[in-house]
Amino acid sequence: MPTQVITSPSTPPTNSIPWHTLEQKEIIAHFEVNPEIGFSQTKVDQLLLDYGANELLDKGVKPPLKIFWEQLTAVMVLILLAAAALSLFLSKFLEAGSILAIVILFTILGFVQEYRAAKAIAALKKLAVPAVRVFRDGKLVEISARFLVPGDIILLETGNLLPADCRIIESFNLRIQEAALTGESEPVEKTTSALANADLPLADRLNMGYMGTLVTYGRGKALVVETGMRTELGKIASLIQSVKEELTPLQQKLDKVGKQLALGGVAVALLIMVLGLLTGEELTKMLLTAIGVAVAVIPEGLPAVVTITLALGAQRMLKRNALIRKLPAVETLGSVTVICSDKTGTLTENRMVVQIIDVAGHRLEVAKQAIASQQPVGVTMLLAAVTLCNDAHLQTAENSENSGIIGDPTEGALLLAALQGGMVNDELLDSMPRIGELPFDSSRKRMTTVHHCPDKLLPKEVLKVWQAIPQNRYLAFTKGAVDYLLKVSSHVWLENAVKPMDSEIRQRIQVAGDALSASGMRVLGVAYRHINHTDIKEEDESGLIFIGLVGMIDPPREEVREAVTRCKTAGILPVMITGDHPLTANYIARDLGITTETTVLTGDELSKMNEQQLNEAVENVSVFARVAPEHKLRIVQALRNKGHIVAMTGDGVNDAPALKKADIGVAMGITGTDVAKEASDMVLRDDNFATIVAAVEEGRVIYDNLRRFVMFSVAGNIGKVAVMLFWPLPFALSGLKVETTVALLPLQLLWLNLMTDGLLGLSMGMEKAEKNVMNRPPNSPDSGIFSGGMGLRVSWIGVVIGLIALVVGVVYNMLGFQQWQSMIFTTLAFLQIFQALATRSNYDSLFSIGIFSNRVMCYIIGIMAVLQVAAIYTPLSVFLGLKELSPLDFLLSVALSAILLVVIEFVKLFKRRRAGLIPG
Ligand code: ATP
Repeated sequence: MPTQVITSPSTPPTNSIPWHTLEQKEIIAHFEVNPEIGFSQTKVDQLLLDYGANELLDKGVKPPLKIFWEQLTAVMVLILLAAAALSLFLSKFLEAGSILAIVILFTILGFVQEYRAAKAIAALKKLAVPAVRVFRDGKLVEISARFLVPGDIILLETGNLLPADCRIIESFNLRIQEAALTGESEPVEKTTSALANADLPLADRLNMGYMGTLVTYGRGKALVVETGMRTELGKIASLIQSVKEELTPLQQKLDKVGKQLALGGVAVALLIMVLGLLTGEELTKMLLTAIGVAVAVIPEGLPAVVTITLALGAQRMLKRNALIRKLPAVETLGSVTVICSDKTGTLTENRMVVQIIDVAGHRLEVAKQAIASQQPVGVTMLLAAVTLCNDAHLQTAENSENSGIIGDPTEGALLLAALQGGMVNDELLDSMPRIGELPFDSSRKRMTTVHHCPDKLLPKEVLKVWQAIPQNRYLAFTKGAVDYLLKVSSHVWLENAVKPMDSEIRQRIQVAGDALSASGMRVLGVAYRHINHTDIKEEDESGLIFIGLVGMIDPPREEVREAVTRCKTAGILPVMITGDHPLTANYIARDLGITTETTVLTGDELSKMNEQQLNEAVENVSVFARVAPEHKLRIVQALRNKGHIVAMTGDGVNDAPALKKADIGVAMGITGTDVAKEASDMVLRDDNFATIVAAVEEGRVIYDNLRRFVMFSVAGNIGKVAVMLFWPLPFALSGLKVETTVALLPLQLLWLNLMTDGLLGLSMGMEKAEKNVMNRPPNSPDSGIFSGGMGLRVSWIGVVIGLIALVVGVVYNMLGFQQWQSMIFTTLAFLQIFQALATRSNYDSLFSIGIFSNRVMCYIIGIMAVLQVAAIYTPLSVFLGLKELSPLDFLLSVALSAILLVVIEFVKLFKRRRAGLIPG
């Protein structure tokens, strides 16, 4: 019978049980779970119903009411509300109603967009939930941490984020960093036995692991005792859930521009009012006009466009396998100038295959020839060593398609090679069980395991050495980078005996290793020693007996070659940072086009440089080899000192500081540890370098689109303001009497605003990449929105819009046509339609990018055209104060507006000619 705590939904499961005081067998009995088999899926399904998913209730998502309130209290909306109040005060109910309608419309629009964006981001966050390895039905499977239940048996290893609260039941040097809960930054070494005191503070419960803490070293097995909100983290979750809202740099700039425009609008409105009053217009009329102008200038659509463009951008990036964890990254990606990438798995396929085994004079080309069952003792020992000193498993499923390697590909390749030589991982471990270990870490670049060793298993040559020192009862096997292993080896296995390692032999091994590295192989050295204890420490990795070398290849990813070229044409420097040998690194970097030189900066050389020297060096180096994770941090820092915007990849626990320091920290989705993912801004779902380049491209597109909208909106507003401001001028100059000093009525301005900023603007975020998006240098994050000639462009386009509309209006008015105002109104609307079309690309002609390639814009233009016709030819015209246009007038208005398209296209053509894109 399961205990009541677990099965009764009416009794909410409590976590008052002091789990750390119970003996392991008591906890196991409590959950009725077999630690070797785990729960059955049926049982899990039932427990999930009782306990719910293992997740913290996410209060981080902004509540709808808050989004609504923020929309309502934005500066722009407040100005609009003031305008509505003023209209109401003047008893102009139509105007007040229209402004309110605009406020409501934009608030709803903004709300919907922001809500959708928040939802999209929340969905992205869900995707980022860590995976955990759990025993279910006797099999080790990987599942999303959301589906863990109390009683589950999970495996923990370096880099894991603890997915729930659990009791540790096996620990191999398992160290957990619990700063998130206890504030203590030093990792705690975990034990498995019960503790006496029930009231121990969390920090002292050495046999427990808590959700949200990090495994920084070692590995172990644990039994989940609490999930979701019942975990210690869950209890304090409400304190930490307020996700900090981050505005992207561009958002901040746009926010500022938006406010400036809003205030500018008020200033211009006042100016127009004063001018009107001076020419004898009545106050009410001028007040209303001023309101209209202010409303016209305010870019109401801006916040909505920004939010939705960023969120849609993040979704597009996800389609290309880049999962954005922090929204500002979407935009920063567009400014990246250096991409620092790991080699293994990101630039290469991480499909290691052993090619060469080299044991003092015996060289086996594994790829070409089978390993015979009778081998020299050295080869047998090497194969046994790499089989035992190994954390990977070979999975041979009934369905052969699913068989493969579980674990690190380097280790899997070793298991496969050893299998060819007749060594079966599980069988060997049965007779020589592992009783101690020092896990691999990328600073030591080696790993060691300690094993029981029955005499009968040892070849007689080894047994002889073994029996000479009777107190040594165990064998330790070490494998790792050759140069690092040689430093701790004092002997060598040679001619079936242990010989002291003299400098000549050392040199020979080094040369043999280098030769393999220079042909692009990853080379591992293998060694062993006798030892008399099992709690092995780093100092025990000394006095080793070097057995031999293993060389394996890891083919470069095909698509990376092209991505590297794209990087270079986009003004981005690709840089390889690897823990591998300099010769291996250089071979692969040259193969992929990252460098053409042979210069490689090694971790050792880097350690000797001071900050100044490193700053100078980084810009000229494309390959860093034999680096330890702490070097990555210095490289990022140096590149940033040089003004670079750095994207940096990482997978291990120790990479986290560098990922945080980089402008864009990029974690590996497949091989990355949870810690690296937590520290990152973006996760690569396919671990592929090409994905970073794709994300950079999307980042640039988003930046372009946001700027495009601002340009569009500001130029349009300049045009409208120019019409309002300069309308009386031609009359004054020609000495004619002006019928009214107001070119457009407030309602007409409001309508136009709705059409352009509201409707057309939304389609701008959907624009596809410009052809040259990856052929130009990165956007400088310091440059303003109007930099790079954009300010000038906006101004002249604005002036042309104003001029055309004004000329049309003045000529019609001077000729005595009543419909002059309707002409200005219609022309302005179509001018902006043509402006939107012509500015879809900053460089290429509309015809080359395809008139219909932005579908949403086409639909919106269609709707706008219908609405414009409706405004003139239906009863709406009475409401808007418009006179009917003859079809000829209408056509003339459209044709004149098209002049803007022609002018902009000519300017772009001229620019392309000047840039030499078109022979000219
Ligand atoms: P990157 O992804 O940055 O290119 P890397 O895989 O090249 O990283 P590390 O994983 O730090 O770098 O490996 C560095 C060196 O450590 C390798 O060149 C290899 O000699 C050795 N090494 C790698 N994996 C193992 C392992 N499982 N056991 C022992 N030694 C290893």
